[in-house]
Amino acid sequence: MTQSSEPVRPLDCDGAFQRLFDFLDKELDAATEQALLAHVQHCKSCFDRAEFERRFKAAVCASRKAQGCPEELRSRVMQALSAEGLGR
Ligand SMILES: [Zn+2]
Repeated sequence: MTQSSEPVRPLDCDGAFQRLFDFLDKELDAATEQALLAHVQHCKSCFDRAEFERRFKAAVCASRKAQGCPEELRSRVMQALSAEGLGR
């Protein structure tokens, strides 16, 4: 194992996308959250994706406030995004 001087490993687009929902749920640790934010700030496509999903999830969660967002819903959102070509 090599030791990195950087505190946070940069994410690629796939990595960012996979962590996006955890980020929206505030389930990421601080370092991963920083890495995700750093990527999104420099990557237009991920920024658009993050913004879209943030609004989508906010809308969904607003209608399910009592229960939060269950895992099943999350995977359905992922499938819907893939169908739209957003999840690649
Ligand atoms: Zn990206």
